[in-house]
Amino acid sequence: MNEILIKKTTDFFQKKFNSVADKVILSPGRINIIGEHIDYNDGYVLPAAIDKIICFAFEKNNTTTANISAIDLDESVVIDVTKDTELSDAVWTNYLRGVLLQLKLKGFEVGGFNCSFSSNIPTGSGLSSSAALECGFLYGINEMFNLGIKPIDMALMGQKAEHWVGVNCGIMDQFSSVMGLENKVIKIDCRTLDYTYHDANFVNYSLILFDSNVKHSLFTSEYNVRRIECTEGLGILKANFPEINSFRDCTEEQVVSLKSKMTDKVYRRSLYAVKEIKRVILACAALDKGDIATLGKLMFETHDGLSKDYEVSCEELDYLVDLAKAEEVVIGSRLMGGGFGGCTITLVKKGSEEAIKEKFTKLYKEKFNIDLKIYDVKVSNGTSIYIN
Ligand code: ADP
Ligand code: MG
Repeated sequence: MNEILIKKTTDFFQKKFNSVADKVILSPGRINIIGEHIDYNDGYVLPAAIDKIICFAFEKNNTTTANISAIDLDESVVIDVTKDTELSDAVWTNYLRGVLLQLKLKGFEVGGFNCSFSSNIPTGSGLSSSAALECGFLYGINEMFNLGIKPIDMALMGQKAEHWVGVNCGIMDQFSSVMGLENKVIKIDCRTLDYTYHDANFVNYSLILFDSNVKHSLFTSEYNVRRIECTEGLGILKANFPEINSFRDCTEEQVVSLKSKMTDKVYRRSLYAVKEIKRVILACAALDKGDIATLGKLMFETHDGLSKDYEVSCEELDYLVDLAKAEEVVIGSRLMGGGFGGCTITLVKKGSEEAIKEKFTKLYKEKFNIDLKIYDVKVSNGTSIYIN
């Protein structure tokens, strides 16, 4: 499937710019097995890059302008790389402008170039097409102009670009897009950026993403509110327990003991963060032992916390997880990504995949009159240069 995308992108480039692209970059989306909404809470996450990608074609053009075409949107933009860039109404260009701004802030000088890109990562479904966009774009510029930026720094610059666009995200999305490896999940310590790879071995279960096909507009505003609520919760914890620096140092009991000093919302957000950080550690141990029953149970618990305590779920996602819970052949399921829509990540017993897909599709349509979308994903390599 990705070969078709690569051909489409390079053919477009050739037609548009009358020249053969000399750098082709592949930048993946990501899944997250567990550890949701804690990348910005000093927690651990367990993501992996997947075989859904944005493909970029690049070539230097010896001018000072970047000519960029978003093939899927049938839109193009021209940016003067010597000028300070500002946010634009064409939202997709902002992720790229954000990257150019980061380069400028870090003192890198780049010249003009031509670029076209196209994607098979669904957007806004929680697979982080935005991180793939930032990281693939930066990777290509780094290659063209020999800037020598290290992969980790590309992830950090991608994250800053996304902040500039207006989403105050943690490091997980960009990190997994850049650092992913085939058949490996990455446990990332979001405080230190230490990371370890673990085998993505789900034994006799398959990973399936069920896309609710909804995106409630609450997403960005509530995301930023959660960050504020967590900061408030942590502030209260720190004030009462001097040994605490972050949610990682807290016990559930400590949070519970301060219930009366917090608003109900701040209390529940804090409790979720502390519990979820512990769940990632348990999930890693379970994965290493091939104990998928424990991993699945933890995923269901995460969903429960995201829905009731962190309040970032929605009716459609809760319904999909409830359907999963009722099936013996489904061992775990939860909403993945920021919430308020997007996908659930679900572990289905091998051999039962098609029957479950059919059943969920039918029931979901009956309940919401919405077509469920389904993605089979393979754990794959991070952002890389394509050499054919
Ligand atoms: P997610 O990262 O979960 O997919 P976001 O809302 O963070 O969702 O990012 C999606 C945005 O990224 C899109 O609205 C668009 O601006 C940009 N984007 C992603 N993929 C493409 C693409 N193929 N072409 C143009 N813009 C894209
Ligand atoms: Mg995104």
